[in-house]
Amino acid sequence: MSQLYLTFDAVQNQLEQRRRYITAPKLHLFTNILSCAGCGTGIWYRSNRRGYICGNYARHGKKACTAHTI
Ligand SMILES: [Zn+2]
Repeated sequence: MSQLYLTFDAVQNQLEQRRRYITAPKLHLFTNILSCAGCGTGIWYRSNRRGYICGNYARHGKKACTAHTI
């Protein structure tokens, strides 16, 4: 039973790594093209928000800038 759980866990890790490998070039592409209208910082892709937000906001929060979600 524990062996089955370990196998499942390994598959989950592989899926997670593959997802990161796929999204990484997109993030690089968009951070070069898009910049925030409020502060000029590059736009970051946030998978948990399912969208693109200001990099300044992502790093420093509401004090730095507004979300500018695309
Ligand atoms: Zn901004």
